[in-house]
Amino acid sequence: MPSMQKNSGRIHINDVGVRDGFQIEKTIIPTETKISLIDQLTATGLAKVEVTSFVHPKLVPNMADAEVVLREIVRREGVLITAITPNIKGMERAIGVHTSGGRIDEMNLFMSASETHNMANVKHSTSESLAEFRVMVPMAKAAGIKLNGCVSTSFGCPFEGRVDEARVMGFAEQYLEIGFDSLTFADTTGMANPTQVGRMMRGTKHRFPDVEITLHFHNTRGMGLANVLAGISEGITSFDSSIAGLGGCPFAPGATGNICTEDLVNMLDDMGFESGVDIDRLLAVAVKIPSIVGHEVPGQVMKAGKTMHLHQIPAQLYTA
Ligand code: ZN
Repeated sequence: MPSMQKNSGRIHINDVGVRDGFQIEKTIIPTETKISLIDQLTATGLAKVEVTSFVHPKLVPNMADAEVVLREIVRREGVLITAITPNIKGMERAIGVHTSGGRIDEMNLFMSASETHNMANVKHSTSESLAEFRVMVPMAKAAGIKLNGCVSTSFGCPFEGRVDEARVMGFAEQYLEIGFDSLTFADTTGMANPTQVGRMMRGTKHRFPDVEITLHFHNTRGMGLANVLAGISEGITSFDSSIAGLGGCPFAPGATGNICTEDLVNMLDDMGFESGVDIDRLLAVAVKIPSIVGHEVPGQVMKAGKTMHLHQIPAQLYTA
């Protein structure tokens, strides 16, 4: 494994739980609960919080309050507020709220590297998606919003299997030509493994040395944090994760969601990486999540305690 010395700076953590997590919850999360949760998250030291999606409310009822959320959350210096949208109509709504008291620092647009997944996800071919980006990116830029381009299913497609790495890189290249400021490679359905992540990120850093790269992993098959480490080894310093491990996978009902924010921060703390996130504050938020969503959540540190949360010695131990 390559040396960790390549990266001595801060690791940026972007919480996407309120968007990637809540969008698949069947229970409607009250807007006030969402706003309070976002306000608590932005106070933990996270770099970014992805707060909503401008998508048709009939398709994703939990995101119908996008405008209200953006107008009412507290703004904190140094914490970027981001949102996503799959289409031009959504971008019009985003710009509408951005210019009327609900500032959006960054819009995150996404397209799947796999043709069949993109069709299933947004009912577009990849060339149709790219054509829409050519309209949406200048719209957002004119309104003063930063643009991040996400290549979904970069590490695997649930319908096609592995996606050709040259194809993924080709889309990244087209994103930069279109005018995106930064890139995300997403493992949308949890198919990445650390060897693959290491190889792809080596190639990416070589090809786009000056571009800010984020990795978005789902822990669907338990490889999430290993994949983060593979990314860090190649100099990637920005990761998406979800508070309490919210999220899921539409093709694997009951599967684990995004990598868990507080588990990630606990690992980084133990390893001596600086994330700027206060783990205790984060855990205080995480423990509230099960009652908000009405079910158990995958987060592990919220159950086990921080690594350095030590215990009294009991009379006798029988554990292996
Ligand atoms: Zn995701």
